Amino acid sequence: MGADYLKDFTMIDMKDIVALCKRRGFIFPASDIYGGLNGFWDFGPLGVELKNNLRDRWWKDMVVTPPIGPDGTPLQIVGLDSAIIQNPKTWEASGHLDGFSDPMQKCSGCGHLVREDHLWDILTTSSRWFDSALQEFEPVTGGIDSPRLMSWAKSKGKKLAPNLALVKNPEVVLSFLATRINGQPDAPPDVQEIFRHLATGQLHETGLQEPCPLCGGTLGEAAPFKLMFESNTGVEQGPDSKVYLRPETAQGIFLNFKNVMDSTRVRMPFGIAQVGKAFRNEVTPRNFIFRGREFEQMEMEWFCHPDEAAKWYEFWIAERKAWWRSVGLSDDNILMRKHETDELAHYAKDGLGTVDVEYKFPFTAPGYGELEGVAHRGDFDLAQHQAHSGQKLEYLDQARDNERYMPHVIEPAAGLTRGVLALICEAYIVDENRPSGVYLNFTPAMAPKKAAILPLSAKPEHVEPATKLYLALREDFAVDLDIKQNIGKRYARQDEIGTPYCFTIDNDTVADGTVTVRDRNTMNQERVSMDKVAEYLQEKMRG
Ligand code: ATP
Repeated sequence: MGADYLKDFTMIDMKDIVALCKRRGFIFPASDIYGGLNGFWDFGPLGVELKNNLRDRWWKDMVVTPPIGPDGTPLQIVGLDSAIIQNPKTWEASGHLDGFSDPMQKCSGCGHLVREDHLWDILTTSSRWFDSALQEFEPVTGGIDSPRLMSWAKSKGKKLAPNLALVKNPEVVLSFLATRINGQPDAPPDVQEIFRHLATGQLHETGLQEPCPLCGGTLGEAAPFKLMFESNTGVEQGPDSKVYLRPETAQGIFLNFKNVMDSTRVRMPFGIAQVGKAFRNEVTPRNFIFRGREFEQMEMEWFCHPDEAAKWYEFWIAERKAWWRSVGLSDDNILMRKHETDELAHYAKDGLGTVDVEYKFPFTAPGYGELEGVAHRGDFDLAQHQAHSGQKLEYLDQARDNERYMPHVIEPAAGLTRGVLALICEAYIVDENRPSGVYLNFTPAMAPKKAAILPLSAKPEHVEPATKLYLALREDFAVDLDIKQNIGKRYARQDEIGTPYCFTIDNDTVADGTVTVRDRNTMNQERVSMDKVAEYLQEKMRG
C-alpha cells in the first residue's frame, strides 16, 4: 500500500484527526466538562501555537513585509484592531441586519428547524425514515407499489415517521397519489414530488407539503433566521441598547478608512489588514472547527482607483493562492473557484465577483471547501457608510490631478480557524511503520515546536548537557525538553505533535560533543556537533 493511497483524503477519517487534536492538546470542545457547546471550540497548548504561527505569518506577509506589486515596488498595507462590538448602524449600512440570514422551515409535528435550501440534501443523505420508505419502491423501475407503501406505513413508518401524512392516513394519501399518476401518465412524478405527496394529508386545502427529515411532519413557510448574535450595552436594556457581535472583521476596517487616511501617510492604492474573532449563529455548525459559531478571520481591504480594480483583483487572487502554498498546503489540494452569478454577494461588482481559495478537506473530498474568498466589493461598503454616517469618505487623489473618487475595494478574506484545520489535515500522515501510527508533517515554520531535546536517560551526564542545549535554543526557537519515558515513546509523541527535529543526547555526546538529530519525516538519524545545533535549526527553518 503506497503512501499516495494513504494520503488520499477520501480515506482519512475525520474522527481520527479530531481524536488526535484532543489527545495531544491542539483543540478541545469548548466547555468540555459541561458537555461542550455546539459550534464552539477551545485551542489547547499546541493548537494556540499553531494558530499563532499561521496568524503571525499572515501578519508578516501582509503588514510587516507586504508583497512586491506588479510595478516592482513594495505595497503599502497597515494594520488595525477594531472593536468586536460597533455602533449598530454599521450593520444596517453593511446590509447584514436585513440580509444576513438563512431561510428556515419549522416542523409542525416536532418543532425541528430545517434550512430550506438544505432540505432535500438532508432527506436523501441522513433521514432514517426517508431511506427506509425508499426501500419500498419497485427496486428496478423505482415505480410505486401501493400495497407495500401501505404496509410500510402501518409498520416501520409508525416508528420512524409518526407525523408523516402517509402514516397518519395512508388510504387518503395513496389515493391522491394514484389520481396524480393516473391523471398524467405521460408525466410521472419524480422522487421529490412523490415524497411531497406522502407528506400531504389534505391536498385540496394545502397543496403539496414538504416533510420533516426527523418525524415526517409538515414543514411551515420558510422564515429568515438571523445569523448575528445580539447583546446589550449599558444598564438600561431595551431596543436602544441592542448591539451585535461582529459577523466579519471587514466592517471595522471600512469604519476606520477615514481615520487611517487622516493619521498615516498611506496613499492610494493601499491596504488595511485585521485579524480577529467573528461570530455567526450558524444554523448547523459542523465538520469540527470548519463551521463554528465563533471563529477567527484574517481580512485585508485593498483600496484602489476604480480603473485599477480589475488588475488588483487578478493580483490578489494569484498572491493568495501562492501564500497558502507557502504555509504548506499542496497544490493538488487547492482549487481556485470563481463564484457562479447566482451565488454572488450583494456587493459583488460588474461581473468581477469573487474567487474562492478552496481546500480539499477530508470531509469534502473529493470535493473542496472554502478557505478564503477574494472578492471585488466595488465601492459598496464605503458608499453605504458614507450614506448612513453622513461622513465624506471619498478620496482626493493628488497623483491624479486632484481627482475625487470613491475607492474600489478588493478583499482577500481568509479564515484563520479554517486555515488551522487545513494545516492539520494536510499534515496528517498515516504511517503504519512507526509506533505512533501517524505523524503530522507541518513545515518547520508552522510547527508548534521546532525541536525536542531528549536526553537518552535521566542520568546527570545526559540531562545536564541536554538542559544546557535547551537553555541555549529556547531563546530563539520554540523547543521542548523531554526527559522522562523511553526514547521510542518520546519520539512517538513528537511525531504526533509534528515536531520536525529531535536532538538526542547520549554517551557519544559525552565523549565527542555531538548529538543525534532525528528527522521526523524520514526517521533518518545523523550526528551534528552540539555547538552547530542552533545553526542547523536556523537553516531548516529557512528552507
Ligand atoms: P461559508 O460559505 O463557508 O459560510 P462565507 O462565504 O460566508 O463562508 P465569508 O463571509 O467570505 O465566508 O468569510 C471569509 C472566511 O471566513 C471564509 O472563507 C471562512 O474561511 C471563514 N468563515 C466564515 N464562516 C465561518 C465559520 N462559521 N466558521 C469558521 N470559519 C468561517
